[in-house]
Amino acid sequence: MGRIIAIANQKGGVGKTTTAINVAACIAESGKKVLAIDLDPQGNMTSGLGVDKNEVENTVYELMLDECSIQESIVESVVENLNIISSNVNLAGAEIELLGITEKEYILKNAVDYIKEDYDFIIIDCPPSLNMLTVNAMTTANTILVPIQCEYYALEGLSQLMHTINLVQDRLNPELEIEGLVFTMYDMRTNLSNQVVENVRENLDTKIYDTMIPRNIKLAEAPSYGLPINMYDKKSAGAESYRKLAKEIVDREDI
Ligand code: ADP
Ligand code: MG
Repeated sequence: MGRIIAIANQKGGVGKTTTAINVAACIAESGKKVLAIDLDPQGNMTSGLGVDKNEVENTVYELMLDECSIQESIVESVVENLNIISSNVNLAGAEIELLGITEKEYILKNAVDYIKEDYDFIIIDCPPSLNMLTVNAMTTANTILVPIQCEYYALEGLSQLMHTINLVQDRLNPELEIEGLVFTMYDMRTNLSNQVVENVRENLDTKIYDTMIPRNIKLAEAPSYGLPINMYDKKSAGAESYRKLAKEIVDREDI
């Protein structure tokens, strides 16, 4: 069986969606079957994988409100071997609509259980908050991958994220593990990036991926073309680094 990885960090702008899109696309490029699940109402993972988020009939919102089956919510992305359950702004209201529903922490997990055997990897992009959607991602996932932006306040909020992960492990998903941390927007020319990496290594006893994602303009441009980096500019530094990260993730045997 494959692995379900949630990409989480409640800070916005740290590279979650960029990592989710490109790790999913690079794993698919290696021949594995991948499902992407967009759990952010902004729907940037959806559009970044070439799907028009306002044209999809059944998104993760309809799925979570039980208005469609999981099979009906899965659409093809622009990438071969990569399907997606899309999202759009409707999802922003889901939290309130789910109030009072029993086992609302497990809605996504219960749906994904039906299809998880069909995929080698499932990659979930989380919203920038520790809300019910993120909790649903954490009950569905086997592991959590945390992108950390190489900036001065990188460690801020990480203890809260770790605390939430511990709570979910204690109460909702005892099998949940931390996949690891990955540094994003790394700039080897600056001391700051290196200091951040050192600081995180000293303060957190967690697996850190060897691959660091550099700051690369192509990574910021690709979504506006609805393409992952390995299709937009397959020789760019961004593409090479996400390919390396995907390989590290796939090759891991200790999880
Ligand atoms: P999050 O999902 O955590 O909010 P995003 O992945 O959307 O973060 O990234 C925030 C912004 O930074 C986006 O505009 C994205 O294109 C840009 N970005 C992300 N990673 C990189 C990178 N390695 N190099 C350059 N720009 C990046
Ligand atoms: Mg995002």
